[in-house]
Amino acid sequence: MLDPIAQATPWSVLLDHFPCGVVIVDGSHRICQLNPEAARLLGDEPDGLIGSLFPWPFVPGESTEHDLPGTDGPHRIEVSAARPAHGTPPYQVLLLRDSTGLHARIERLELANDRFKALIRATPLPMLSVDRALEITFWSRAAEREFGWREEDVLGRPLQSLGDGVGSGLGELLAASLEGEPHEGVALSGWHDRHGQPLDLKVWSVPLKHRNGRIRGALAITMNTTHERHNREHLHHLVTHDPLTDLPNRTLFHDRLQQLLLRAPANGPPRIAVLRFALDRFKVVNASFGHAVGDVLLCEVAQRLRDTLYSSDTLARTGGDEFTILVGQLTRSQDCAAIAARLLQTLAHPFRADGSEIFLSASIGIAVWPYDGPDADHLLTHADSALRLAKEQGGNSWQFHTHELHDRARARLELESDLRRALDRGELHLHYQPQVDLATDRIIGVEALLRWDHPRLGAVPPDHFIPVAEQCGLIDEIGQWVLNTACQQTAAWHTAGLPLRVAVNLSPRQFHSGRLIDAVATALEASGLAPQWLELELTEGLLLQHEGSAQLEPLKQMGVRLVIDDFGTGYASFAYLRRFAIDGIKIDRSFIQAIDSDSGSAAITRALLSIAEAMGLDLTAEGVEEHSQLERLRRWGCPVVQGYLFSRPVLAAEIPAMARSVGPVAADR
Ligand code: C2E
Ligand code: CA
Repeated sequence: MLDPIAQATPWSVLLDHFPCGVVIVDGSHRICQLNPEAARLLGDEPDGLIGSLFPWPFVPGESTEHDLPGTDGPHRIEVSAARPAHGTPPYQVLLLRDSTGLHARIERLELANDRFKALIRATPLPMLSVDRALEITFWSRAAEREFGWREEDVLGRPLQSLGDGVGSGLGELLAASLEGEPHEGVALSGWHDRHGQPLDLKVWSVPLKHRNGRIRGALAITMNTTHERHNREHLHHLVTHDPLTDLPNRTLFHDRLQQLLLRAPANGPPRIAVLRFALDRFKVVNASFGHAVGDVLLCEVAQRLRDTLYSSDTLARTGGDEFTILVGQLTRSQDCAAIAARLLQTLAHPFRADGSEIFLSASIGIAVWPYDGPDADHLLTHADSALRLAKEQGGNSWQFHTHELHDRARARLELESDLRRALDRGELHLHYQPQVDLATDRIIGVEALLRWDHPRLGAVPPDHFIPVAEQCGLIDEIGQWVLNTACQQTAAWHTAGLPLRVAVNLSPRQFHSGRLIDAVATALEASGLAPQWLELELTEGLLLQHEGSAQLEPLKQMGVRLVIDDFGTGYASFAYLRRFAIDGIKIDRSFIQAIDSDSGSAAITRALLSIAEAMGLDLTAEGVEEHSQLERLRRWGCPVVQGYLFSRPVLAAEIPAMARSVGPVAADR
């Protein structure tokens, strides 16, 4: 029965080179045949072994292991006994394999595997892997902890499906690793955990390969670096803020000032001011109440200052008792005076600390860019010298670095506070300037013009104080007073048998508050004047503003007359006059005053006269000073004139006599 194997040359060649030992034993376990590998494993020559008893017992169909001493130490031989086919002669084929190395390898692998698992379990760094389709194949415990998703929730899911923006950056890195590119320590932001908390990550990603080198996926190890950003931000905050008040410190202030100067346009109105604010005699407070109280006071001062300023201004603590304020977007340098006054005002009511009331005051030095220096250093130095000056003057005051600015600002601020009292003190009154109908040469109406008799400055012209009233919000109150007074006066003339019309000037600002319509109604109602006797003089610009023009219709409904003042100096067109049902226009006095000398002005005046007539608009020529001007206007058919030639604006008491006189009214007055 040996023959078929022994004689089949290919089989014997195969057996000679077979990497496994093959032994054939007979029914009494004697070796009949064996290949060279089997002889090597059994430690003898094949010839010496043939006929000898196979050294170990075996069970067909099973594998057993046996130790065999060798020159290089004990070997472990695995013997697998083939299960004899039914009916075959009682020969048994045994396969022998040296399993010594195999065990060691398996042990090493198991050890490595254990180590790897322990490492993954122990590391706080979240790890995950994906397959070629970017579907998650592994999700470590740390990943569960850090990102919030559990392994069973994410396995098999595409990474991108974890949420908006969550997978994207990491997905791109892993996709690149699937192309074979490892990435080390790439910083990713815009990550969120499962609860939407933003995370910064550092990621290491590597391709995962089959033994044949084909890439089967990619593995990412990540590190949550969010706290590093928080630390950086915290550190930056510490470096740029004052620890006591949490206000920006000198460094940050300087930085912001420089940024603002960089962006400031080279010309135009002043836009930037630096205010140095220092508490007066704060050392005394510290010495008397102690530093703890001093600190509480400083925090309270900081709070009051902060509440006074716009959020776009920078308030910094730049010294023990010193704050510095950066104001951007100034339109006029005088505005800083108002800010400085407000800042001082915040200290007006006493502070409570340590059971007592403490009164504080401060001094402020102001430097305005570009007058007081081209750069941050100059501005700060000049604000300092202005501060010194303010202190020298006894404190509780502010001072500009430039005297001229200082004087202008102070005058302006004083004017503002005087104006606030002017109404109460009866310093405002109205003058009336007659308007003459050229068809009859009689006064048909008057224009009410506001006058302010300032106790110290004398007569302040309306051109000076109306803009102040507009800016400090007094215009509504003053406007109401003008309307009331003019209507009352006119109603009194009516009672006295003088049916005059009164024209009242309105500033565009009066249309802003939304109280104008009520103001007009109140004036008419209180005086009993019928609305057609009241004429409102509007500016051309108002017709172009939606907010203002929207209020013309209700005024019109009320029955008052609307005329456009200084016509020809703005941009309004005749189409606007029609759209807003305007009753008349007043040709600006600059045209009238030039009609003798300038053919252009003459032509415009004539053109306006004929258009007004064609459109059925009333027309008044203002500023008539000369007989020659009057003659031309009369010749050209001008209906109404007003000007010094007839009368300057006068007190109400003078009007009745003028109105009753017939003829070329007081052309010689
Ligand atoms: P305006 O509306 O153009 O008023 C006419 C101005 O021209 C008045 O100056 C008047 O005195 C002056 N004037 C009149 N006739 C002549 C003349 O023949 N020659 C010259 N050179 N000037 C003449 P006033 O009173 O100083 O008013 C100036 C401006 O102040 C007014 O200009 C008006 O815009 C404003 N204003 C006056 N009163 C009020 C008021 O009650 N409310 C408002 N919002 N503005 C007023
Ligand atoms: Ca006017």
